[in-house]
Amino acid sequence: MTILGLDISQLPWAAGIADGEGSFLVTTSVDKRRLTIGNLKTYSYPRPRFTVSQSGKNGIPQMLTRMKSLFGGFIRGPYDGGGKRAPIYQWCLHGHERVQWAMAAIWPWLGDVKREQAIHCLTEYRKRSPMNKPSKCPHCELVARPGPLATHIRWKHK
Ligand SMILES: [Zn+2]
Repeated sequence: MTILGLDISQLPWAAGIADGEGSFLVTTSVDKRRLTIGNLKTYSYPRPRFTVSQSGKNGIPQMLTRMKSLFGGFIRGPYDGGGKRAPIYQWCLHGHERVQWAMAAIWPWLGDVKREQAIHCLTEYRKRSPMNKPSKCPHCELVARPGPLATHIRWKHK
């Protein structure tokens, strides 16, 4: 049986990993090119991330490989764990759609603390996304979000 294209038998496990070692956060990525989103110009854009960090003495921890084969994404590291500690590896899933998809898949088994972090992550993303910031039509006084604004311009000022 599958949920959102994922093997349901894997999902309680993945939720447990997210509860224990996972993190949902929004980071700002900077692009050297100026991006145009709607009619806004920006150099940076927010990105939701779902990450799991784990130390591994003998290479990439199996937990991270399993998260990668389940949801995709990539594994980074090793990073210096500091002192005599084992190096750290991190599995990362980037992007609004993919992170939201993974959250939705593990949601039924996810604990309250991580649920709250997930909601905060998406709220923060929506607040910061240039796609959600109102901007003004160059032809009239209309103020709308970039997506609807593009449609407005296409239909009203063609
Ligand atoms: Zn207009």
